[in-house]
Amino acid sequence: MTDDLYHRSTQYINGKLVPSHSAAKIDLVDPATEEIFGEVAFGDAADVDAAVQAAKAALPAWSALSPKERAAYLLKIADAYEKRIDQISEVVSKQNGTPIGLAKAMQGVVPANYRFFASLADNFEPEEYTATSAGDAFVIRQPVGVVGAIVPWNGPQPLIAWKIGPALVAGCTAVVKPAAETPLDAFLLAEVFDEVGLPPGVVNIVTGGRATGAELVKHPGVAKIAFTGSTRAGQAIAEQCAKDFKKVTLELGGKSAGILLDDVVLDDFKPFVMSALTPNTGQTCRALTRILAPRERYDEITDFIAETMASIPLGEPTNPSNFYGPLVNASQYERVMDYLKIAVDEGAEVVTGGGRPEGFDKGYYVAPTVFKNVTNDMRIAREEIFGPVIVVLPYDSIDEAVEIANDSDYGLGGGVFSPDEEKATEVARRVVSGTVAVNAAGCPIDVPFGGVKNSGMGRENGQTALDAYVEYKTIYRSPVKA
Ligand code: NAD
Repeated sequence: MTDDLYHRSTQYINGKLVPSHSAAKIDLVDPATEEIFGEVAFGDAADVDAAVQAAKAALPAWSALSPKERAAYLLKIADAYEKRIDQISEVVSKQNGTPIGLAKAMQGVVPANYRFFASLADNFEPEEYTATSAGDAFVIRQPVGVVGAIVPWNGPQPLIAWKIGPALVAGCTAVVKPAAETPLDAFLLAEVFDEVGLPPGVVNIVTGGRATGAELVKHPGVAKIAFTGSTRAGQAIAEQCAKDFKKVTLELGGKSAGILLDDVVLDDFKPFVMSALTPNTGQTCRALTRILAPRERYDEITDFIAETMASIPLGEPTNPSNFYGPLVNASQYERVMDYLKIAVDEGAEVVTGGGRPEGFDKGYYVAPTVFKNVTNDMRIAREEIFGPVIVVLPYDSIDEAVEIANDSDYGLGGGVFSPDEEKATEVARRVVSGTVAVNAAGCPIDVPFGGVKNSGMGRENGQTALDAYVEYKTIYRSPVKA
């Protein structure tokens, strides 16, 4: 078979598309039509090994470049990526059902992400000389080695950038394992690497599923795993990395609380229903899916969110005016549908949605749904649903709002909304989470992002992004005794 945009039988190893060792295939299903439109190889242990060997071979020459020389490649990647935003967005949207307008917005920030990581080279000193209490020392920041970057399907390209950007500046080489649902855009990224002359083997790509990822995690040639995905997979990966004493960062799931203070102005809050509560049809790790509303405004807020969600255009991902699309695949669709049933069984009340939207016979569509009469012990308030499903809970005091927000197994995102920014910031300080937005949505690239509790370990992005990709080595000296 000859590779084309939607059909791939190769892996990207050592700067070339090479036939996959594994003959197993993954069918790619269009979530809007439920039709198979493409396929890729389901990479096996031999494919992973070939990619890791290529990354290992590329490591000495790559790590010998200066951080600024390495950063220069990221700047070129950013420029080349920028020219392909439309094409990459169309391929992402076809695979995961993200409506094209949002897909373009998500790819649109990727060049800025690469440029940000390149800028970190300006202050990255691989070696520092320092006096010690007993002589002097060289503190060397060495690249950790070959990085395994494993990403999910909901934001594949930004999440690859968040991993290989800092890895490459730090002097590491990498093997990327895209999600089974979104492997095709990774091949377009490989074309970007070729176009800018990234040395062969510096970034390799192996398509496949969970088993492929597991092979990468346990490969002895991989020094660090950078993972974004579900909490369950994160647990399995953490266990393996603990056995091997392998460095690991884990960006996992969430059930983040959005606290609306009693003075919230709903017209000001309205844009956040899209950007903070239900981005990517609710399939976003940081989405604020547990809304806490002051009891005296509970019905008003619940109805407002429900009406807003019901008015947001839903439909074919190819239509640029749609904001909600289908869910990514059949199992995600069934999972969300199950939660809609669980919610009602638990005694929650549907305010809007609650099933399949009318007029859609095909595709993994779920109507945007809001539940009221929810208590924080219900499964729909505790578990990550990963769909356009919002639960609204009442609170009687700020203390109670904070208590409910923190009564969660997760701690990835969070939000506080009020015209009184200082008051909202004080509430945000009390929320136990890796990030909390105040009248905002989407964490900027130049500050750390990550979670606590079941939402993960370690941080990506921000000024300290390179730390996850370096190992400190100290050479210390005592004055020679006469
Ligand atoms: P997933 O965990 O099933 O898969 C993610 C990636 O990991 C895929 O490439 C998959 O093939 C691979 N994988 C799965 N099990 C593995 C294992 N045992 N060993 C190695 N690799 C393995 O997640 P998903 O369904 O693709 O994505 C949705 C999840 O991702 C949600 O829970 C969401 O909250 C989370 N997510 C988190 C963030 C974040 O930054 N915290 C961002 C986006 C998505």
